[in-house]
Amino acid sequence: MSAVPTESLVLSFEEARRVVEHHASSMAPTSTESIGLLQAAGRVLAEPIAADRDIPPFPRSTRDGYAVRAADLQALPAKLKVIGEIKAGPQLGQSKLAMNSGEAFSIMTGAPVPVGADAVVMVEYTSQQGDSVAMTRGSAHGENIVAQGAEATRGSLLLDRGARLNEAAIALVASVGKAQLQVYAKPRVAVLTTGDEIVELDAEIGPAQIRNSNTYSLAVQIQRAGGEPVLLTIAPDEPRRLRQLIEQGLESDLLIMTGGVSMGRYDLVEQVLGELGAEFFFTGAKIQPGRPIVFGRVRSASAASSPKYFFGLPGNPVSTMVTFELFARPILEAMSGATPHPLTFLHARLKSEIHIKPGLTRFLPAILSGEFEKSQVALVSWQGSGDIAARSRANCCIVIPPDREHIKVGDWVAVTLRQE
Ligand code: AMP
Ligand code: MG
Repeated sequence: MSAVPTESLVLSFEEARRVVEHHASSMAPTSTESIGLLQAAGRVLAEPIAADRDIPPFPRSTRDGYAVRAADLQALPAKLKVIGEIKAGPQLGQSKLAMNSGEAFSIMTGAPVPVGADAVVMVEYTSQQGDSVAMTRGSAHGENIVAQGAEATRGSLLLDRGARLNEAAIALVASVGKAQLQVYAKPRVAVLTTGDEIVELDAEIGPAQIRNSNTYSLAVQIQRAGGEPVLLTIAPDEPRRLRQLIEQGLESDLLIMTGGVSMGRYDLVEQVLGELGAEFFFTGAKIQPGRPIVFGRVRSASAASSPKYFFGLPGNPVSTMVTFELFARPILEAMSGATPHPLTFLHARLKSEIHIKPGLTRFLPAILSGEFEKSQVALVSWQGSGDIAARSRANCCIVIPPDREHIKVGDWVAVTLRQE
């Protein structure tokens, strides 16, 4: 039986994050599936997407106006002969439109620029009378034209495997004419919440009972990170049943537990995992909220299959949400085939001062507000890591490094945005 690990596995935030990133770097999804483009939002691309033709496929006018030779507009006002009109889309007999010096085409936004023109003058700087147009402004070679292939040349890579399909990526896939594409299968993530006091939403509730909210917040976060939640029944604080449910959870690709990882007499998660031969990478991080976070893996009974990773997240609902984002998300992103997002920080000026005990990296719920280039951030008042209402009022976290005790009004602080 493995010993339950001790205090030595409590890491700093940076150390714990590095451990997670190290394990994430060796993970890969196991299979792919074919889906329709309209179902692809948020999925991870499993095939490279190349341009099937030059983008744009022809020199494209970016303005309504006149296609001209810039050299014809050196003396102003210039008068040019309008020899036709070009609109976006196919036009009979206009596949090879061309013009000479002294001539112009009236042209619309998105239309192909004719051979012989090297600039488009905006209609605002022109006046047409009959078949002649007067220009009140000069133009430079290439102005208001996107050259053929300037955005991408035929055959070049537009999106690689591992790209998360947001609306821009989906537009790019559509632009090369693919309605069906290969994405990685979603990893299945078992969610096991523990605690004798926790009850399901439809249960008659007693005064000392707490409704299960962690399963629901985790299901959202798991889906957002690219996983498929598999919800298990609530585990009691009793080792035999807890062990059964943990074993059931280990059948999924990843197991995320909540609760039962603090120092209390009924916090049994580590003990039961120890009995299953788990390897623990850390059993705590010097952070607030979320200090008792546990990360490890269990070699499965059949030697053929790879070890299963697990997280034991603290049960306090805000700790559960924060530790998922900080530690479980990179693992899940890697398992879903996506290039993990680095943790990014914005900086904003502090609106009301903070005094705090040093020693922990803190991720405190806060509200970021202000105008362009004048962002300000202030802590929301909260009752600690059980306060979901405060967390839902917040739109970000202020991140305080472990050596800061006092932060003054107007100082710059690091902020992480909540994922919506
Ligand atoms: P624990 O980590 O088991 O000591 O739980 C810490 C706190 O979080 C306790 O107040 C629990 O009642 C609460 N808690 C644990 N699990 C959940 C859950 N699934 N939903 C809401 N609150 C929970
Ligand atoms: Mg508990």
